[in-house]
Amino acid sequence: MTDFEDARERMIEEQLLPRGISDPGVLEAMRKVPRHLFVDRELWNRAYDDYPLPIGEGQTISQPYMVAVMTEELRLTGREAVLEIGTGSGYQSAVLAELAETVFSVERIESLARRATDVLRQLGYANVLVKIGDGTLGWSERSPYDAILVTAGAPDVPSELFEQMKERGRMVAPLGSSYSQVLTVIERIGQKPRKRSLFSCVFVPLIGEHGWK
Ligand code: SAM
Repeated sequence: MTDFEDARERMIEEQLLPRGISDPGVLEAMRKVPRHLFVDRELWNRAYDDYPLPIGEGQTISQPYMVAVMTEELRLTGREAVLEIGTGSGYQSAVLAELAETVFSVERIESLARRATDVLRQLGYANVLVKIGDGTLGWSERSPYDAILVTAGAPDVPSELFEQMKERGRMVAPLGSSYSQVLTVIERIGQKPRKRSLFSCVFVPLIGEHGWK
């Protein structure tokens, strides 16, 4: 079981399906992406467990269920340009890359961005581009986006990100205080964000000009 195929299947059967993840594309992507390769080798045997894991620099790779639910809420069809804020390990980027046309991912910590870029390249994800910078400013040169995923906790919808989203585009972001948030789906209807709350969650803070200082 060197490829951890059985562990991935168990993750799907025990963590994703019982909690209502049903999009076949999302399930297939998570069955395929080798999550263990996005964490240090000492953590490989815990890579498919039901919790986040440390990835260095005080940051984390999100719990598998959180990756699944955030991805599912974007309702990707394979044709989208997706902006991800918070590349971290690159695992979420790989899952998105299985389901969208192109993924643009921004990470503020250089060492994480570099490591994620290497792993994604080794795995052949040519449709993911990683940039080092303040993701609260988005990535305007590549905008507008069909979907935006924010993987760190923000005080509110970052205005620059909303502006870089297409009409009828969808954003998923944890919004709230720096220690507890509500996972929120934001749709762009004209200039107005339409928000839908999903459930409480805890993410590392989104640090930047339109996030936490
Ligand atoms: N999606 C990641 C994965 O699959 O490993 C998990 C991301 S981790 C929960 C959140 C990431 O957001 C951290 O790597 C952190 O450095 C990054 N981050 C925080 N504020 C940011 C900002 N303003 N711009 C870009 N990245 C940011």
